[in-house]
Amino acid sequence: MACENELMKPEAMLLPGSDIVDMLPLGVFLLDESGVVCGWNTWLADKTGIVRQEALGKTLQQLFPGFDKPRFTWALQEVFTNGSPQILSQALNQYLIPIKIKVMGYHGISLMQQKVQISLFVAANELRLALISIVDVTENVIRSQALSDAARSLKESNNRDALTGLYNRRFMNEWLDQRLKESRSIQHPIACLVLDIDHFKMINDTFGHQLGDQVLQDFSLLIAGRLRDCDVFVRYGGEEFVVLLVKCTLAGGIARAQELIKSVRSTSIGTLPAGGVTCSAGVAVYDPKMPCSSELLLSQADAQLYQAKRNGRDCVFPSRHLGSAD
Ligand code: GH3
Ligand code: MG
Ligand code: MG
Repeated sequence: MACENELMKPEAMLLPGSDIVDMLPLGVFLLDESGVVCGWNTWLADKTGIVRQEALGKTLQQLFPGFDKPRFTWALQEVFTNGSPQILSQALNQYLIPIKIKVMGYHGISLMQQKVQISLFVAANELRLALISIVDVTENVIRSQALSDAARSLKESNNRDALTGLYNRRFMNEWLDQRLKESRSIQHPIACLVLDIDHFKMINDTFGHQLGDQVLQDFSLLIAGRLRDCDVFVRYGGEEFVVLLVKCTLAGGIARAQELIKSVRSTSIGTLPAGGVTCSAGVAVYDPKMPCSSELLLSQADAQLYQAKRNGRDCVFPSRHLGSAD
């Protein structure tokens, strides 16, 4: 229908003021009601490599094999039927015209990201056309993705201990409050282990602070390698660590603590021979039937650790669970 008479020949249907349109830093093109291109500005020719004479008279499907944009087809119909302008946002549609970008690959973006606006344009000869503009928003998209990446990694580093890479106390407080709430609704217990390296001051004093740091790192790796993905391992401060075991009873927590202590005792850590580094553990459990605060849970486990130290170190307290609840 586009090219039925002389007036409607594509080359006669350039936009009025097309000199200006050709100077714009955005893509502008016209489609008639059957989807045939009737106008194609210089920006589009430059970006797509399809010159105006080649584009005119063709459909987008012919110009871009595989072109399939149902949302665009729907928007065109809206424009022609109701005359209501349409916007295809980048967030929902990414792009309309496939144009390769030179800076490849950030977050897998290889095509120009576009904001597209479509409005009705009635030409002098009463011909109804859709006027489509394309703004390149690739830089904005990349910048906002980089910003959210940076925000995510900042949040992540705020949650981590610099020496060991383990979660820190700040993360633990948030995580634990959340999990205790969950535990109350799902009614599962959470075991809390406080682990403390024995005579660590002596290790520092005897072998130096640097080896002390190495011990902390190796100890962290050793324990982390023995935990489940769902467990949370925290450097609570200095040479004190917290392990939180979801869906774990007091008896389960004691057994896990015993395993961990045994593996520390039997492993060479930070160039010290096996047995050179030991640790003690206190275990408490959060019982959803008798809810308590995260502070109380931690202080109970800490009090148990104190008992383990008094019992000679390199051990767990309580050493076994005598209650009936487990
Ligand atoms: P206990 O068996 O009773 O736990 O004795 P301890 O010597 O392990 O405990 P104490 O609290 O007396 O000493 C802990 C030491 O840990 C003192 C502190 O200088 C050292 N420390 C804390 N943080 C670090 C660290 O990041 N690196 C090193 N190398 N040492 C640290
Ligand atoms: Mg200690
Ligand atoms: Mg300590």
